[in-house]
Amino acid sequence: MAHGYTGKILLVDLGTGRIEERAVPDAVYEQYLSGIGLAAYYLYRMIPNGADPLGPENVLGLVSGLLTGAGTLFTGRWTAAAKSPLTGTWGDANCGGFFSPAIKRCGYDGIFFSGISEKPVYLYANGKTAELRDAGHLWGKDSVEAEEMLISENSPTLRAAVIGQAGEKLSLISGICTDRGRIAARSGLGAVMGSKRLKAVALDGKKPILVHDSAGIKALSKKCGKAVPPEFPLSGKIVALLGVLMRILPVSMRTDGRLVLSLSRKWGTVSLNEASIAWGDSPLKNWLGSNEDFDPTKSAPFNPDTIKEREKSKYHCYSCPLGCGGISTPAGKYNQTHRPEYETMLSLGGLCMNTDADGIFYLNELLNRAGMDSISAGGTVAFAIECYENGILTKNDTDGLELSWGNADAIKALIEKMIARDGVGDLFADGSKAAAEKITRMKPGINKEIHSHLVHAGGQELPMHDGRNDPGFALHYSVEPTPGRHTLGSLTYYEMWELWKSVGGLPKPPAFYLKKSRFKSPAQKALIAAANSRFINVVNGCGLCLFGSFLGVARIPIFAWLNAATGWEKSPEEYLEIGKRIQTLKQAFNIKQGIDPATLRASDRALGRPPLSSGANRGRSVDIENLTREYWVQFGWDENGRPTDETMKKLGIQF
Ligand code: SF4
Repeated sequence: MAHGYTGKILLVDLGTGRIEERAVPDAVYEQYLSGIGLAAYYLYRMIPNGADPLGPENVLGLVSGLLTGAGTLFTGRWTAAAKSPLTGTWGDANCGGFFSPAIKRCGYDGIFFSGISEKPVYLYANGKTAELRDAGHLWGKDSVEAEEMLISENSPTLRAAVIGQAGEKLSLISGICTDRGRIAARSGLGAVMGSKRLKAVALDGKKPILVHDSAGIKALSKKCGKAVPPEFPLSGKIVALLGVLMRILPVSMRTDGRLVLSLSRKWGTVSLNEASIAWGDSPLKNWLGSNEDFDPTKSAPFNPDTIKEREKSKYHCYSCPLGCGGISTPAGKYNQTHRPEYETMLSLGGLCMNTDADGIFYLNELLNRAGMDSISAGGTVAFAIECYENGILTKNDTDGLELSWGNADAIKALIEKMIARDGVGDLFADGSKAAAEKITRMKPGINKEIHSHLVHAGGQELPMHDGRNDPGFALHYSVEPTPGRHTLGSLTYYEMWELWKSVGGLPKPPAFYLKKSRFKSPAQKALIAAANSRFINVVNGCGLCLFGSFLGVARIPIFAWLNAATGWEKSPEEYLEIGKRIQTLKQAFNIKQGIDPATLRASDRALGRPPLSSGANRGRSVDIENLTREYWVQFGWDENGRPTDETMKKLGIQF
């Protein structure tokens, strides 16, 4: 078969030990692609109503992308998906590195795990055999140690997805790690793997990945490679100054994704650390503060040039011509770490008013090894600090930790305790919403007050992109079937994706516009957000990296690659219809699980209710009700966010 996909999945029942290959009909790929779409197709069918996310009925899927291994660029992302124990909704997370091609080289597009093993096990597969092996000796090891042991016991070419201590201890903010600490972090899927006593998935296949038109793909990839820009030529200080300029000016310029890639090529995602603080993209002080609370004297340690001083080498994921990653040193007791990402630096930095960037290198490695989501960890620590500062928690509750804003030693100690579920760490190990519920039980009478300090969407801590700066983020945080995610869309992403160049009927943003116009015309903003959601499902169905997608559809030939890989002749509009089908199926998954979509809305504080009185985002609030209603209309869902029978029928979702 030469379609880019393998046409097969592997089903593993950890309760019985039964392992079975299953053929996937071509029609499923035509309707859902692979990756996130394939996961949605199977998980919707396999996970029963009301399944306990940490019980045997939940199913964990690890899926590759349709374009992974096809000779395309930026297409090495894999996706983990299951019912989220953190939000109770559809849960997914994706990650780069080299695990995505490893799935396909074993002959599968995805591997799905159900049941619960009696003892710790790992799955080993190499394209000829697939078997469950004892993982007793790996249990208790961190993700890097466990991965290194699996490689040394098996083969240097083996690739593994592993949980650390956080997943083993069922932390609801734990993820799944590959490639020495890269992590599919969000939605708490490490706990799903831990609940199944599945320590690792170790893959060492050598099967070829065949495509319909390899010469066509090669030509498209060559042209795409030439569109990848060189490194940004100016210094990190200039980038920070640009952030100040963006705050001062009343107008905004349509974002060109090549600029973002040029910055990423030089510094990775930390390129915009300081600029984002200056212009109001990065929330501060648990979303209460502004750039005025974290001025350049505090943000200077986060400047990309300062971060780069600790870099030993660059890091490229599979098939990536850009290489936004870096291997850095020092990291406290560890001798190296993946360079902390923007999200990690600022959720553990400005969100907690912490200026100790060196300490964050250590925390980054600690969290990656434990397999704990740094966004949720940072959001949870910021919440804990606010509780302490407001007298809800005292030193009697915190094992003596003085959880004041910016106390780097206390932040470090709390995270170490969260990973170990030690003392006060156990209170916060499952994220901020679960902590609020536990504190409310401990201290009846503070219920209303404690919830005013919580910032989340549907139970998931919010990423470091402020919807009061770009309301597109606030909308996607609130309406996506997996809430609180920054990688699914925003107004800025729409500008970079330039979808109007390939897809009919979509608006082209002006080259310059008044910033306040971002907060107007909810119907048009919802049209844009719906286009984003449809497109990102195609991106995640292919395994395309978000940063690669920022090149824009005129330069990253995602639709042409798909046609060349599969032999289909679909138009961009037809691919976006597939994206709509995937989005609707994920929403239907939530409805089936009893979720009311309106409850996934981001917290008032993150929506500017009340608005900030100072700084870059002062006076701004997001009209989330109108935006949400219009977004649901775009998808053919009813006034409660439920996909209508007519919509389901039109999309062919009738199983
Ligand atoms: S741009 Fe960065 S995250 Fe994306 S594939 Fe390349 S190295 Fe990986």
